[in-house]
Amino acid sequence: MFTIKGKTTDWELVIGLETHIEVLSNSKLFSGASANYNPTIAPNTQVSMVDAAMPGMLPVLNEFCVEQAIKMGLGLNAEISRKSKFARKQYFYPDLPQGYQISQPAEEPPVVGRGWVEIMGDDGKPKKILIERAHLEQDAGKLKHDVHPTKSFADYNRTGVALLEIVTFLDTKNPENNSYITSPDEAERYLREIREIARALGVSKANMEEGSMRADVNVSVRPVGSNEFRTRTETKNMVSFKFIKSAIEYEARRQIEIYETGGTVSQDTMRYSQSEGTTSVMRSKEDALDYRYFPDPDLLPLEISDEMIERIKQTMPELPAATRARYISMGLNEYDAARLTESTDISKWFDTAVNGKSERAKPIANWMISELFAHPENWDAKNAVDTSEQGEARIITPENLAELVDMISANEINGKQAKEIFIKMLDGESGTPKEIADRFGMKQITDTGAIEKAVDDIIAANPAQVEQYKSGKVGLLGFFVGGVMKATGGKANPAVVNELLKKKLA
Ligand code: ADP
Ligand code: MG
Repeated sequence: MFTIKGKTTDWELVIGLETHIEVLSNSKLFSGASANYNPTIAPNTQVSMVDAAMPGMLPVLNEFCVEQAIKMGLGLNAEISRKSKFARKQYFYPDLPQGYQISQPAEEPPVVGRGWVEIMGDDGKPKKILIERAHLEQDAGKLKHDVHPTKSFADYNRTGVALLEIVTFLDTKNPENNSYITSPDEAERYLREIREIARALGVSKANMEEGSMRADVNVSVRPVGSNEFRTRTETKNMVSFKFIKSAIEYEARRQIEIYETGGTVSQDTMRYSQSEGTTSVMRSKEDALDYRYFPDPDLLPLEISDEMIERIKQTMPELPAATRARYISMGLNEYDAARLTESTDISKWFDTAVNGKSERAKPIANWMISELFAHPENWDAKNAVDTSEQGEARIITPENLAELVDMISANEINGKQAKEIFIKMLDGESGTPKEIADRFGMKQITDTGAIEKAVDDIIAANPAQVEQYKSGKVGLLGFFVGGVMKATGGKANPAVVNELLKKKLA
């Protein structure tokens, strides 16, 4: 159910994503030129004769890029095609000197076939998103229109760098199979999952700001409960999670309004305006480009052996889905496991803190999710640093959080004191949690004698409340606990206090 301004509508969303990730490789997909097109590198210095489309130059497939595609395919739980082809997608645009892009034909199996990734659905439960295919293709160069008042410039350093395009699947033959993206949040979680898989495998930096990950967003809407897919639009070349979510929202609202006023949606290609947050028609279906794909006569079919796939399988690290399963087996719930695998930096931080002691898992997860994640824009798991105050880095290391958690479970400090120590660490207090506790005299009182005295005092001082408690108003226990905690300067072990009070008031 899609909500507009807090009001739920009778409409639901169907979303398909075509995600391009740039393959990490020293050289380009079909040439030996460097694949590094960093903006600091002088334009047109990483361009071979092949990339420049000089007559008679022949492309040579880069085996490493193929291995990267296979790796990603395995990470997407996908079938790897033993045989696939390259085709020319014809179009003229000055960012690609060949006049065509070498890609893999849409009608034939590409290097990576049907697969799936698991995300957290909007209901908080794991959800499988089906992948239709992933294929290898060439990236185009960059045109610069803002350098000169009357001229445009072309930089071909990026021309021919390998891209892997990953396309989600809609099971039109089995519409009850709802393994596809149905909300802006799910779209973001899907893209983050793709990003983390690519990074964990070293297949791509998959960084949207840098342009090494981009997405085309297909959106359609339909009445809740409907079993047919309606006409979708495609918004091209989206480069931030925020804009993707905004484009989906806007596009869904636009389509719903068209249907509700008796119109029909046409299958258009849209462009998104970052400043307006709106989509507008770039070209309509009638103007759809006919790319006239044809098999590239310069390239042999790509054949992949079982041995090659086996060899790559041996090198696969633990991927987010497996990490989540491991966390659940350590006693975390699905939500916590999903949050802690949002990035490999976070899961590594968590693993370092837990350090194999599974009794730490739940408390560490709680502290991370409710305290550290409370400032996602400030907390950088990679550096384990909280930088909420500009220029001032406050370090909370996994080891420190682990020590804090251990102190609580050893009854050395209570939860309230732990929070105080935590805040002091955030405020730049030096030392380990133990040292800070010592420095500020924050030792929990577990000594029953000392607590007993405070308990007796509070009971003696409040005869009326004691009477009420005894006649059934057991909610008053909190009142007594509060009194004892106050009397002990917040240092008493709350479990001991509770136990003693219950005994004495019985
Ligand atoms: P194209 O070749 O025009 O890009 P595809 O058939 O490859 O189209 O689909 C592109 C993406 O759009 C896929 O992720 C697919 O699942 C998605 N898609 C197809 N139909 C719809 C629809 N009705 N609503 C939303 N997404 C759709
Ligand atoms: Mg497309």
